[in-house]
Amino acid sequence: MDQVIDETGATQWQRSPGGLVTALHPVLQSHQGTWVGWSGGTGDAPEPFEFEGIKLHAVPLSESELERYYEGQSNATIWPLYHDGVEQPQFRRSWREAYRVVNARFADAAAEVAAEGATVWVQDYQLQLVPAMLRERRPDLRIGFFLHIPFPPIELFMQMPLRAEVLRGLLGAELVGFQQKLAAQNFVRLARHLLGLRYEGNTIDVNGRKVKAGAFPISIDVAEIERLAATDAVQARAKQIRAELGDPETIILGVDRLDYTKGIELRLKAYRELLADGKLRTPNTVMIQVATPSRERVEHYQNLRVRVEREVGRINGEYGLVGQPAVHYLHQSYSRTELVALYRAADVMMVTPFRDGMNLVAKEYVAARTGAGGGALVLSEFAGAASELRQAFLCNPHDLDGVKDALLRAVNVDRTEANRRMRIMQRHLRAHDVNRWARTFLSELGVPAEESP
Ligand code: UDP
Repeated sequence: MDQVIDETGATQWQRSPGGLVTALHPVLQSHQGTWVGWSGGTGDAPEPFEFEGIKLHAVPLSESELERYYEGQSNATIWPLYHDGVEQPQFRRSWREAYRVVNARFADAAAEVAAEGATVWVQDYQLQLVPAMLRERRPDLRIGFFLHIPFPPIELFMQMPLRAEVLRGLLGAELVGFQQKLAAQNFVRLARHLLGLRYEGNTIDVNGRKVKAGAFPISIDVAEIERLAATDAVQARAKQIRAELGDPETIILGVDRLDYTKGIELRLKAYRELLADGKLRTPNTVMIQVATPSRERVEHYQNLRVRVEREVGRINGEYGLVGQPAVHYLHQSYSRTELVALYRAADVMMVTPFRDGMNLVAKEYVAARTGAGGGALVLSEFAGAASELRQAFLCNPHDLDGVKDALLRAVNVDRTEANRRMRIMQRHLRAHDVNRWARTFLSELGVPAEESP
């Protein structure tokens, strides 16, 4: 959650952007669960309250914890390391200490609010020490953990000074869930390599206690996206977007947090080179790149912003016309409704991360195209979504020519073929939505079905 100050000066709450919140909101709503989470600010945490059908129990962070625990250890050490070291991870002793302190605070908060024998589902890389800390405080609880981002191969994980603590922390859960099979395999192998633990299949023996690892690819609320996409307001807005762009033949769209894992710069380069080669032309072709502000105080992100904006400037300088830029670059956060209208307006969606746990935007694009006709997805092989969305135009983001080729094929695909591919992917998503993800994980954790969404 994020606190925002409205025009009257009062504090309001709003959902933070990002895959995790988007995925868990419907699950918690249907589950009447309590969300123990960071308030999003550095002031005192408010008293527990209800918001959009969810009980919220906010945990405070100080300014220095925000810097060391969140921006430092979580987003400048673990995030790049777990994403294949796309950027050099940074290691600092003071960040590690803050990570311990904050994880303990979350474990205390969960231990305080959880009923006897309750299920606690710990989410993501910022809280990897919590399962073991919580088990120590409350052995009666059923504890699950889900990692929304990739889990790296042993050689990379071993760089982390906090490696043994993190691994022991995760092993405090009964079930550790990952997006991909490969990540679960990395985890069980690591348990043997680092702690000498035995495993059979995906079950690790932790001194007689069994800990399961498994792949549970996360998804979206497909019905909700389809409903939104079918509304008059969204359809009218999609038409308006096309008209405002001068009704071009092809609109290419990118929607990402401005993050170096997402391959935004690379995508822009592919577009620029196709314009230079004369294989795409402006103003028949227009690109829209939404780059939502993210982690703006972290150096990696500041550098990325400079590089991306330089590339946008270069493309517009070379290929734009008065009133008709070649790239519309939007460094802003958008509502779900506006995003769905953009998905409906776009002929081609580019999702080209170097590494991504899942990438929900790719799934949202496919779901939002239901009934629209046309539409083509260019998708990196290194996004978790690529294991499921096989009818996308898959590409290797490290191979610029390969990306150009996939983009060109997506732009030129005939409508029948585009529709065929979309329908297959839409069918897959309908059968694998976020509720199924939660149900599958919770049932594997041993939560009785009637307590599951
Ligand atoms: N999103 C949003 N507003 C924006 C940009 C993104 O609500 O301006 C949402 C988007 O619809 C998606 C999520 O944020 O549900 C991004 O999830 P994804 O898995 O693609 O990437 P992450 O940000 O988690 O790395």
